[in-house]
Amino acid sequence: MKIAFFSAKEYDKTFFNLANKQFGFEIQYHETHLGPHIVDLIKDVQAVCVFVNDKLTREVIEALSKKGVKIIALRCAGFNNVDLEAAKEFGITVCRVPSYSPEAVAEHAVAMLLTINRKTHKAYNRVREQNFSLDGLLGYNLNGKTVGVIGTGKIGHAFIKIMLGFGCKVLAYDVFPDDSLISNGVDYVTLEELLRQSDIISLHCPLTKENHYLINNKTLALMQNGVTLINTSRGGLINTEDIISALKSKKLAALCIDVYEQEEHLFFKDLSMEIIDDDKIQRLMSFPNVLLTAHQAFFTQEALTEIAQVTLDSISKLDKNCMEEHSKIILA
Ligand code: NAD
Repeated sequence: MKIAFFSAKEYDKTFFNLANKQFGFEIQYHETHLGPHIVDLIKDVQAVCVFVNDKLTREVIEALSKKGVKIIALRCAGFNNVDLEAAKEFGITVCRVPSYSPEAVAEHAVAMLLTINRKTHKAYNRVREQNFSLDGLLGYNLNGKTVGVIGTGKIGHAFIKIMLGFGCKVLAYDVFPDDSLISNGVDYVTLEELLRQSDIISLHCPLTKENHYLINNKTLALMQNGVTLINTSRGGLINTEDIISALKSKKLAALCIDVYEQEEHLFFKDLSMEIIDDDKIQRLMSFPNVLLTAHQAFFTQEALTEIAQVTLDSISKLDKNCMEEHSKIILA
């Protein structure tokens, strides 16, 4: 079985080559993302392995099917970048890694919150210049604050456990409440109540057609003045223009984002010598109270080990003629 691997980085090769010792697949690593520009070059490949910013549009999927590709293996949890209808129509099975290390993402969300609040990123640079003053570094205690969590699946659950440990009151919004969280003191409320009552709001729901731009002028208006917003989920959950207005009006005290709606043009690349023509991200980066990381919340040794293992294992199972059964599990 040959696998064409797109958006490949050195760290991907390290972890996948290690995991592949057990499977023995032929993996062709391509640095480029998967798109119409490369699809013609695919040959004798039964599976493609893709990441968050590879766009699996109908056009790409149709071309893959003509090339004989049978499996699209997403080495990530989210699948908003794949046209699932088209995959079904062209008989391609899609698998993903539904859970690799929810703690990796939850801990990064907490790291961002602590950084923006206690300004350790500024303090780090300041003391290196022998500036030991505290002016401008004032933070607040997390203990006693109300944290609103939108989406209480695996990552939301892990994030809530940490917030409860800090002594926060946790409000949650999800269509499927988690009983174990309720028994630990988490209150499930309506989205509106969560937005109105929270000091800190963290997004942990997937991006769907229904919740695209969940955070917009209307929902921002419901929030308290001085709220902190964290998004480690998907960029499309936030309307960037509206969030910039909320930062300018000081509605938002701080914004921590690991994802951005136009990230496929920027993230995972070194653009330090380039002129970036995305004015929205430049504006976001100009705010002192915005902390932006480039989709690194998943990036731990444990998560990469699990991603490689689960992805290759799924491909191996699908290869052994259990496509029907597996596609049902994976797309659920
Ligand atoms: P999950 O499926 O375990 O949980 C998602 C939860 O969100 C579910 O409980 C679901 O009922 C709920 N939900 C769905 N739509 C909702 C809505 N409109 N409002 C409120 N709740 C809603 O998924 P997970 O493993 O916790 O991952 C969550 C998201 O995190 C993924 O979809 C992905 O987009 C993102 N993610 C980001 C990174 C990163 O590196 N930044 C890594 C992994 C996952």
